Amino acid sequence: MQRSAARGSPTMKAMLTRRRFSIAAAAFISSRAAFAASEYDLLVRGGRVLDPGRGIDGMLDVAVRGGRIVALRKGIPASAAAEVMEAGGLLVVPGLIDIHLHARDAGLPPSAILATGVTTMVDAGSRGADNIDQLVGIAEGAPNRMRILLNIGRLGNNPGGKGEFLEGVEQADVEKAKAAVAKHRQWIVGMKARLSRGIAAGNDMVVLRRAIEVAEAARLPLMIHIGDTASSLPSILAVLRPGDIVTHMYAPTPNTILDAQGRVLAEVRAARKRGIRFDFSNGLNEHWDWNVAEKALAQGFPPDTIATDLTVAGRTEQVLDLPNVMSKMLLLGMSLKDVLGCVTVNASKSFRELNPCGSLAVGAAADITLLELGSGTYEFVDNYRNRRSGRQRLIPRGVVMGGKRV
Ligand SMILES: [Zn+2]
Repeated sequence: MQRSAARGSPTMKAMLTRRRFSIAAAAFISSRAAFAASEYDLLVRGGRVLDPGRGIDGMLDVAVRGGRIVALRKGIPASAAAEVMEAGGLLVVPGLIDIHLHARDAGLPPSAILATGVTTMVDAGSRGADNIDQLVGIAEGAPNRMRILLNIGRLGNNPGGKGEFLEGVEQADVEKAKAAVAKHRQWIVGMKARLSRGIAAGNDMVVLRRAIEVAEAARLPLMIHIGDTASSLPSILAVLRPGDIVTHMYAPTPNTILDAQGRVLAEVRAARKRGIRFDFSNGLNEHWDWNVAEKALAQGFPPDTIATDLTVAGRTEQVLDLPNVMSKMLLLGMSLKDVLGCVTVNASKSFRELNPCGSLAVGAAADITLLELGSGTYEFVDNYRNRRSGRQRLIPRGVVMGGKRV
């Protein structure tokens, strides 16, 4: 309204003149700058760009400047960039997001995880209210984007080598957890509760309700870990809210997502319909087997997200890295696009703070992963060391974090 009222007035004419002058001056300055420096800081050239969140699959070049993606098109000349990454024969995808791993130990530094193509990662419950500062310190120093799910158990995963609530359910301390979330809200993007009998004994519902109380107060999602719970899966799902995440979705009996006849439970389908998210995390012990995964996939129940549950031990057995875990879902028949969607666009939707990640859109942070889709014979294992061989394996071949080649 103000602008149209001012149109034609002497003040407006003066402003327009000034604006034309400054545009002309800016063009002059930028053309001079072009002689001094390249148009782009970095160019990822000649690869197959796959960005499932935006339906992109094509031979394109990706240009980066100032830490952001500034162009995505065919035929950008190498001479336009200060640095060129040749991606011929490789997949060029948004930086991978792993929403469930454990980056608490010196033997698994964030830099090593970044080197496997993971530009964004979430430590899922390694620490609780009493020892969260240690993990925040790691997140602050990480070269990739690291965020945290606070364990409702005040000492985090397995204090003293035992499940977090075996000493007593008072370890699930609501007030302490609320205070820790408030103190570290910039790092904490959700809550975590592990509900198996070896962790919560017969108190899974008490632990779950306390975790939800904290999550609700801070408007955060909760990730729960299922498998071998004292309570039935439907009774646990009934308490979850839209946006909450069930990890280890392909955990075997008892209390799997399947009924005794191997059919996906109606309550599990209803939970997904209601907005509860299902995550396939590999882990090491009793978190999944080929049969549950195969049966669920055959019935149209794929994961929303694929994650590693990586630990120091997982670096050398079963898990290895996120691309290896993704390859297991390729073996089970998921499409490349769907597998990539699980670790990019879908993962970005799991936490509000990660919503801008997982995309190669112009303007997005330049987090880019280069993968080789190897073809040959590769062996993969589930948590029971059952072997299957697949014909394809995703292998990390390069990574760009915030516009910088790693
Ligand atoms: Zn875990």
